[in-house]
Amino acid sequence: MASLRPEQYERYKNQLSLPAMSEQAQLKLLGGSALILGLDGTGLSVARHLAAAGVGRIGLVEEDNKLATAVYGLSKINPDVAIVAHKLSFDTHSADGVMGDYDVVIDSLSDWQSKLLASDVAMHLNKPLVHGGLFGFSCQVFTMLPGRSACLRCALPLVGLEDVPMEKLNADFAPTVEVASAMQSSAAIRLIGGLGGIGGATLIQFDALTLETSAVRELSARPDCPDCRRNP
Ligand SMILES: [Zn+2]
Repeated sequence: MASLRPEQYERYKNQLSLPAMSEQAQLKLLGGSALILGLDGTGLSVARHLAAAGVGRIGLVEEDNKLATAVYGLSKINPDVAIVAHKLSFDTHSADGVMGDYDVVIDSLSDWQSKLLASDVAMHLNKPLVHGGLFGFSCQVFTMLPGRSACLRCALPLVGLEDVPMEKLNADFAPTVEVASAMQSSAAIRLIGGLGGIGGATLIQFDALTLETSAVRELSARPDCPDCRRNP
């Protein structure tokens, strides 16, 4: 059975001492991968958390020149982690190819058309998608597990977001961004490390003005949706 190298025991000492963690879970993280769609919003912060946790390969999708700076900074966090740059526009032509190569996909996209495309492709590829949405002071996080959760197309109307205009979201209240990043990173680490505890049918919302969280539950796969049904 594989084991951590001596310097890795030291590097992950804090994380390994958590009750839910184990050497096997750490090895899964090191052998695992995550793709982050977009570096605005939560993307960069999620990447930092995943790199520090030792997720072995982290892909970044961004068409802007800020990608090179992000890769440079993230590469210094953890020598165990490979940071992979995908400088491209996330659209129907690129989505399948880039998402297919990773264990978990993180949605840090800033427009709804792209978010729904990520959901469609994740369902098609049978791949977990950790959705993050930012709305000024509030945010929401939903871990979509194909075959178990509703797809994002189905989930959003159920949380009352069917009327959200298809335009760019505001993502500029930094503390809210950090809350969403923390939730998305936690979900990704749990999925990749095999730590369990992700049911996939609950969407969590947080409001930084009231400091209240709420949960919308039972966002289960819908039998009348072709995407939800695709992965029985
Ligand atoms: Zn659906």
